[in-house]
Amino acid sequence: MKKLALHWQIILGMVLGVVVALLLNNFSWGAQFIGNWIKPFGTIFINALKLIAVPLILASLIKGVSDLKDISSLSKMGLRTISTYIVTTVIAVSIGLAVVNVVKPGSSISEDTRNELVEAYGGEAEMRKQEAAKQKEAGPLQALVDIVPDNIIGASANNKNMLQVIFFAIFFGIGLILIPEKTSKPVKDFFDGFNEVILKMIDLIMLAAPYGVFALLAALVVEAPSADLFAALGMYAISVVIGLALMICVYLLLVWIFTKKSPKYFLNGIAPAQLLAFSTSSSAATLPVTMERVEEHLGVKKEVTSFVLPIGATINMDGTSLYQAVAAVFIAQAFGMDLSIGAQLGIIVTATLASIGSAAVPGAGMVMLVIVLAQAGIPEAGLALIFAVDRPLDMCRTVVNVTGDATVSMMVAKSQGKLGEPHVKDWDDNYPH
Ligand code: ASP
Repeated sequence: MKKLALHWQIILGMVLGVVVALLLNNFSWGAQFIGNWIKPFGTIFINALKLIAVPLILASLIKGVSDLKDISSLSKMGLRTISTYIVTTVIAVSIGLAVVNVVKPGSSISEDTRNELVEAYGGEAEMRKQEAAKQKEAGPLQALVDIVPDNIIGASANNKNMLQVIFFAIFFGIGLILIPEKTSKPVKDFFDGFNEVILKMIDLIMLAAPYGVFALLAALVVEAPSADLFAALGMYAISVVIGLALMICVYLLLVWIFTKKSPKYFLNGIAPAQLLAFSTSSSAATLPVTMERVEEHLGVKKEVTSFVLPIGATINMDGTSLYQAVAAVFIAQAFGMDLSIGAQLGIIVTATLASIGSAAVPGAGMVMLVIVLAQAGIPEAGLALIFAVDRPLDMCRTVVNVTGDATVSMMVAKSQGKLGEPHVKDWDDNYPH
């Protein structure tokens, strides 16, 4: 019997997770049962993915950089990658601003609802503000200082320090390029083999993906806040989702224009990573799968994926920046503020920077939103307004974050003559595609 393609299996897992949670929610013991007996499997699944992230970046980036042969091709690719990432982020923020100004979701919030929300979520909003305050206290060059670790073991001990591990790997790779081939060969061969092992481990983890997402979604459903609050924030949530959907269309267009690959080809290749991004709300946790899909199913050469994708997962967050723009203007509207064009242009800059600074983990975009609000003079108490629907929107924006990384890696690959045909590994056949 022909097995169901992986993305369909994952979708099935997600749907069943929601259905089972809704059914069990009717029993007094349902939520606790899910918390005790189903949710842990979701946590194990995410942990397994995160476990792979640091070794994967180290192995693949060192190999990718050292394969480039000379420093000038590295800097060429680096420049192109970063500039394309910035351009897509600015497009995303602009789409967010356009949608929120047309739909005006904040105008439909009554004062009662506003007070109710501030009351219900004021505490949680306060915690986000404190986290953001720590980041704001730092000097203007702190972000740069943070990229260079003083200890590689320390840096690899925390998934939030991904940029530091990337720095080390690129630095190490440059060292490898500069030493004689005879000495560098065994080191390269080692990382090559190491990389293959990690990719195999990802395959094995993906066998469990349908079950993992089942557990994750079931847990989310029983932990979700009441439907009334969702309804009050409906227009806001719809605005974010419309913006994100438009951004996906932009990606499909970019892929088509720059690489001549059809939307179907692109979406088929990247779908499992998108579904995983949706279920885990973390581009860092999704990174191993994104790399595997882009390389083997979209035909981007390893030299490009190993460089472009880890960097993208940490600094390119188009979905997050779009959401920050919509959320900031929504909060301003809900508080009856009129934002000038100047203030909105300011949001383009701060949301772009804030999304670069957001960690690739669940909820990070909301922490950095505090900075966008402060810069635009919008009351930070407004965070409480959007708290109730943040998780589902986080899931959606993470899909866009991951899709954006995949898009840019295809564009960069094309420009460097490194876009080939898909090549699914033989041993990959143990799971269906
Ligand atoms: N969860 C997002 C990501 O990992 C970041 C965010 O917007 O909160 O890509």
